[in-house]
Amino acid sequence: MNHIVVIGAGQAGSSLVVRLRNKGFEGDITLIGAEPVPPYQRPPLSKTYLTGEMALERLFLRPESFYGENGITLKLGAPASSIDLDARSVSVGDEVVSYDQLVLTTGSDPRHLPASIGGELEGVHVVRTLADVDGMAPDFVKGARALIVGGGYIGLEAASVATKLGVNVTLVEMAERILQRVAAPETSNYFRRLHRAHGVDIREGVGLDRLLGEGRVRGARLTDGTELKLDFVIVGVGITPTQQLAESAGLLLNNGIEVDARGCTSDPRVWAAGDCASFPYKGGRIRLESVQNAIDQAEVIADNLMGANKDYVPQPWFWSDQYDVKLQIAGLNTGYDHVVTRKGDGGAVSFWYYQGNALLAVDAMNDARNYMVGKRLIEAGKSPPPDVISDPETDMKALLKL
Ligand SMILES: Cc1cc2nc3c(=O)[nH]c(=O)nc-3n(C[C@H](O)[C@H](O)[C@H](O)COP(=O)(O)OP(=O)(O)OC[C@H]3O[C@@H](n4cnc5c(N)ncnc54)[C@H](O)[C@@H]3O)c2cc1C
Repeated sequence: MNHIVVIGAGQAGSSLVVRLRNKGFEGDITLIGAEPVPPYQRPPLSKTYLTGEMALERLFLRPESFYGENGITLKLGAPASSIDLDARSVSVGDEVVSYDQLVLTTGSDPRHLPASIGGELEGVHVVRTLADVDGMAPDFVKGARALIVGGGYIGLEAASVATKLGVNVTLVEMAERILQRVAAPETSNYFRRLHRAHGVDIREGVGLDRLLGEGRVRGARLTDGTELKLDFVIVGVGITPTQQLAESAGLLLNNGIEVDARGCTSDPRVWAAGDCASFPYKGGRIRLESVQNAIDQAEVIADNLMGANKDYVPQPWFWSDQYDVKLQIAGLNTGYDHVVTRKGDGGAVSFWYYQGNALLAVDAMNDARNYMVGKRLIEAGKSPPPDVISDPETDMKALLKL
């Protein structure tokens, strides 16, 4: 008998079990999920699902019936509570499920504000699960006053949706600039201008001192002493890998569950993929928080479970939608030392990250064409000189043939 058990019924877990069946795996598969719903895509939660433009059924990655029809046992609504590596079993409620191979795709947990500064007041929301978003949606009413804590992609997308729905938004970012952790000043400047043009009150270099209110949040005091009156708060201050199960089982951790290039943990029968896993990259280790990473890494593990013995080589890409702007990112900008701007037609613009003469990444705003060129160049390991990119006369597509 060959039984593969997967803990975490999200993007990576779902991609893995689908791949196993598509590749002809004939053993048993069990997918265990803490949430009471089948695997769904998270990106629309802070975009079209929150605006009400996307229906619930379209969030699901596959209809629930798909799993049964493909011989995949779904156990939803209760977390796996422990793993016994010696006995090769997992506990879920009162049940003990034995495995031959185990995959951890437990994702990540949003950071919450501490209760000591009002983090547990009603009306303070994080954006991670369907239940989080269903819980906050009634607060998004015209004329309401919202504070968004954190100027990363989640905070900015929430600001965009709230503004579209007529909410008055103040966004505070403790760092010097929004998107500081993930993007160059050029990209931060672009999105600051965009949000301000839509009426968002962006305050950078200012943190939250504490939330005010009894029972429900009614206001906030900022670190510069300003007080705001509020109806609700969205907290977008990052995530941490969900690794408690792995930790108590004794698996090695290293900014997430440590895996080798094949996706295998420190136990040869346990694998990990997605937001929860850190893997070798360019001589160090990295943990990525994106749909592409979750899918590709999970699929490599599925292939390895069937004997492929191959390494995961990430080809990172990411996107964000804010107002009428689609941001597309290819590559990883870690270690960049300068940025080159390329202007496209009708307000399209792209920022190209270089380390010396090596092209690392591209941020493209409403510029699908240059995004595609950048992505293909990066995947092929090609680096056109920076002045060629900024030259408006350059035929970008021709660069692919060099
Ligand atoms: C609001 C939002 C917007 C996003 N937008 C984008 C975007 O535009 N582009 C992009 O590339 N990425 C985006 N992301 C990130 C992307 O969704 C994640 O990187 C991706 O979902 C990671 O997949 P995963 O399978 O690792 O984790 P998840 O999809 O989070 O799945 C993990 C699952 O494991 C479950 N679980 C955890 N512990 C247990 C346990 N003990 N037992 C059972 N189940 C457990 C969790 O409940 C969860 O359902 C966004 C994320 C959010 C929250």
